[in-house]
Amino acid sequence: MRTGAQICALLFLGLSVLACNNAKSDTSAAPPAQARAAADDSSIGLSQQQIDAAMNSALKIDPQRCWSYVKQFVAVSGSRPLGSPGHKKAEDYIHAHLKGDQVEDDAFTQQTPVGDFPVRNIVAKYPGKMPGLVVFASHYETNIWLPPSYVGANDGGSSTGLLLEFASLLRERVKNGPMDGYSVWLVFDDAEEAMQRNWASDSLYGTKHLAQKWQQDGTAKQIKAFLLADMLGDADLNIEDDENSSPRLRKIAYAAAEHYGYQSHFFGIQTGIEDDHTPFAKIGVPVMDFIDLNYGYNNSFWHTPEDTLDKLSPKSLEISGNAMLGTLALLNAGAK
Ligand SMILES: [Zn+2]
Repeated sequence: MRTGAQICALLFLGLSVLACNNAKSDTSAAPPAQARAAADDSSIGLSQQQIDAAMNSALKIDPQRCWSYVKQFVAVSGSRPLGSPGHKKAEDYIHAHLKGDQVEDDAFTQQTPVGDFPVRNIVAKYPGKMPGLVVFASHYETNIWLPPSYVGANDGGSSTGLLLEFASLLRERVKNGPMDGYSVWLVFDDAEEAMQRNWASDSLYGTKHLAQKWQQDGTAKQIKAFLLADMLGDADLNIEDDENSSPRLRKIAYAAAEHYGYQSHFFGIQTGIEDDHTPFAKIGVPVMDFIDLNYGYNNSFWHTPEDTLDKLSPKSLEISGNAMLGTLALLNAGAK
């Protein structure tokens, strides 16, 4: 998440719309979600029957198991900035929960304005029968400039638990061989947060490194969608309509959300967000950020020690997780 934080302002643009200078970019009034992203049958290239069939095959998260991952991860690792004991505990927790899966680490030393630090992206791979792959990603570390009481329950914690839940579901699905559809890779990425409070040049170190690596080795060309999860545990869940995400993926995601009746949690605010999807967008990968960047009244819990488990809800993880997995199912069915 972006630094410089905590300074939010309410702009009054006809409608009163929340905008934050921390919101990774400007936020502006949006037309009603239905007008913008209405997923009529033809809009994603599938009939209603095809959508229903695809969604019936979609993986669905177990909210209680997912919630237990979030709680344990946050309790075990606590504050986990680069180079800290908490960071090592976070890596160990993720590795332990991917045991037996095909896991590949992208580990390197990163120069930053406050020194050199070890960075580790953890990638778990689940094979599919179709050529190409879909990536789900989340950062897991916390800001180095926040006090040790900061645990990032929502920011980094909730989406890490969500990806661990995805791992449990995918592991089950591939146990007898490759699953129908695209291969799925889970990326637990590192060093998303700025080391100082200067977002532009001092953040997204992990995904910048991985995007460059995957561009060089040809992986990037195989990625059908890079779907990012960030701050999705908020009990008051409002996933923004990010203009820096692929319009096509936003439409497909909305169709998945609509299937479950989740529309009230999607796309109420239109904004442009810079996050871990940005380095991949820059190399031509179709990306989407599933993010709720309004956390607490006036975003008051974000990047503060107030970001604790009691602000979160398993229901929000269920809504966002099922919408993300539904997006995968629609992509597998050939959604355009
Ligand atoms: Zn953050």
